[in-house]
Amino acid sequence: MNDWPAHNAMLKRIVEQFGTPCFVYDWDRVEHRMEELRRGFGGRFQISYAVKSNPNRMIVSRMREQAQRLDISSGGELSLALEGGWPGERLSFTGPAKRDWELKQAVQAGIGEVVIESVAEARRLDAAAAQTGASQPVLIRISPAKIPAGFGVGMAGKPSQFGIDEEQADDAIESIRALQHLKLEGFHIYCGTQCLLASAITQSYAMFVDLFKRFSTAHDLTPRRLIFGSGLGIPYHPQDRALSLDQIADHVNPMLGELRRDSRFERTELILETGRYLIGEAGLYLARVIAAKQSRGTQIRLLDGGMNHHLGAAGHLGSIIHRNYRMFKIATSDAPSDNQPQACDLYGPLCTSIDMLGRGVEFAGGLEVGDIVAICSSGAYGLSASPVHFIGHPPPGEILIQPSRAAINAI
Ligand SMILES: *Cc1c(COP(=O)(O)O)cnc(C)c1O
Repeated sequence: MNDWPAHNAMLKRIVEQFGTPCFVYDWDRVEHRMEELRRGFGGRFQISYAVKSNPNRMIVSRMREQAQRLDISSGGELSLALEGGWPGERLSFTGPAKRDWELKQAVQAGIGEVVIESVAEARRLDAAAAQTGASQPVLIRISPAKIPAGFGVGMAGKPSQFGIDEEQADDAIESIRALQHLKLEGFHIYCGTQCLLASAITQSYAMFVDLFKRFSTAHDLTPRRLIFGSGLGIPYHPQDRALSLDQIADHVNPMLGELRRDSRFERTELILETGRYLIGEAGLYLARVIAAKQSRGTQIRLLDGGMNHHLGAAGHLGSIIHRNYRMFKIATSDAPSDNQPQACDLYGPLCTSIDMLGRGVEFAGGLEVGDIVAICSSGAYGLSASPVHFIGHPPPGEILIQPSRAAINAI
């Protein structure tokens, strides 16, 4: 996945045609990732794409060919999914503070399942379903009492706005089941993400399976669907090592096989819900060097885009400290350079000191005005997770490419 620099010539053409700054998404890489998931788990999991990771309209629409299901987390994402041609049946709706109008729209859209995050929410959904006379399928989101170490972002094992605490789930399941217009079809757990430790991923799925079994058995439920929030992480920083899917599958496949042998789960659909793992590494952010200066012994380069387009690369999207993303240079001048590595600090165009995209980044031959910096792993939580209106710079372009079909399109 990290062979981007080999495509310098193509990226240069994209920049010439569409300008900077821009995000580039490579659909071949998305397809490749899907294929790896299918092959790795041998079809035991259906894949659900979490829209919030990249809600570009074209991406959401084209994901229909790749992922079996789509997880939305707002009324806005519901509209996006329906406009993108997704049938309501293939959608799930997760989110901690769903409003009545969103619940109503979800019921009206015939959504596959609403993922219930509290008993109070279930009651409101029941009322919305009663109005339309529908019986709305739901899953209950369980917030586990603990999660294995190794998750970049953890959401369980502590007070959480997400889901129903494992400790309270027994009572909640009975209350939700008693609601006339809801149909309890299974459970959902998503309690952490950006995990690069195969063993922690495996342990978390084992824990999910235990919880799914325990609650299904205790409440005599034959689940139609169980959703595993994947937790799968991707390498962002130079030191990060990519997950080995084979290593995960070696442990997870027998576990899922065993679950299936239990007659209660024979026909249950198992769903792996992921965003960044599908699209994160398929994206680059490209910005051009606008100015160069030397200040008190440090080389500084200023780019035409920064945290206004890419909050994550600036270290402000859930990171405690800033760490450089993987990045490389696309040289635009043909003048020979000495290729000596030269370090510089990279800043965006905003009038705020926190708009920094890299510290002490080394580029062979240094970075000249006009050169392009390409930031890797930018396909997820990029544009839509950034303060694009802050300080009034134009939004970046979004370009979808598919090199296998020689396709390059602004989207
Ligand atoms: C955000 C989210 C995901 C996707 O997380 P990634 O880290 O992008 O894989 C999946 N499920 C739910 C419920 C989410 O909120």
